[in-house]
Amino acid sequence: KDFRNSVKPNWCPGCGDFSVQAAIQRAAANVGIEPHELAVVAGIGCSGRIAGYINSYGFHGIHGRALPIAQGLKMANRNLNVIASGGDGDGFAIGMAHTVHAIRRNMDITYVVMDNQIYGLTKGQTSPRSAQGFITKSTPGGAIEPSLKPLEVALSAGATFVAQGFSTDIKELTALIEAGIQHKGFSFINVFSPCVTYNKVNTYEWFKEHLTKLADIEDYDSSNRELAMQTVMEKEGLVTGIIYQDTETKSYQEKVPGYAEQPLADLDMNLSEDQFNELVKEFM
Ligand code: SF4
Repeated sequence: KDFRNSVKPNWCPGCGDFSVQAAIQRAAANVGIEPHELAVVAGIGCSGRIAGYINSYGFHGIHGRALPIAQGLKMANRNLNVIASGGDGDGFAIGMAHTVHAIRRNMDITYVVMDNQIYGLTKGQTSPRSAQGFITKSTPGGAIEPSLKPLEVALSAGATFVAQGFSTDIKELTALIEAGIQHKGFSFINVFSPCVTYNKVNTYEWFKEHLTKLADIEDYDSSNRELAMQTVMEKEGLVTGIIYQDTETKSYQEKVPGYAEQPLADLDMNLSEDQFNELVKEFM
């Protein structure tokens, strides 16, 4: 199973997104799926290009809308493993409403956010994840608002799987994405993926100094939501590992009557024009 294709990514040399791409490819291979069993759906931004760089079905959607497309795909074809991906601007600004509702809906898809705390594609403006005081062309006096806290939002919205990785730790990140793909429900994985061109504050060195691995915290229990929330608040979100996983709650698919019986994608759609029009009428 080779999830590499011949397209050369046009990210800046050193961009964290290269490692995220490699981790997704490795995780998909490790869980034993074939390229035709994977769909990668992306939004807009530097990271959104990832859909074209993986040997799988790929869909490059519009800004902030990777999740609605990913959920539609999964509803139409439950046999596909669906990974949605994009940046922090895509998922936590224009796409934030979709993110929260996808989390609480708990559909069986994996969402990998490449969080570089800035808008890279548009050449360096403050994003919802930029720290308060962060200076860019759009906030020359420093960002006034505090940054959004995606782990706290995900936990509050009822997420059944929350993890966070760092792009240079490909081994851990691959394991997190594998666990996310195998999780029966919505898996939310935030990844610190530095923008080496426009974010000169949250650099690789900065993350290495500030991140704590949950595996190094004695008695950390990822099945305890309160402990997860308390830990991410205490550590100001600067942790990596599986933060929370609930293996009991059923996924959206398991709750939808009839969903498991036959995917829409497998229906015999060899219809005449009259049959097609009749079918359409049923939904009007
Ligand atoms: Fe990566 Fe930043 Fe370059 Fe975009 S601008 S490709 S996020 S380093």
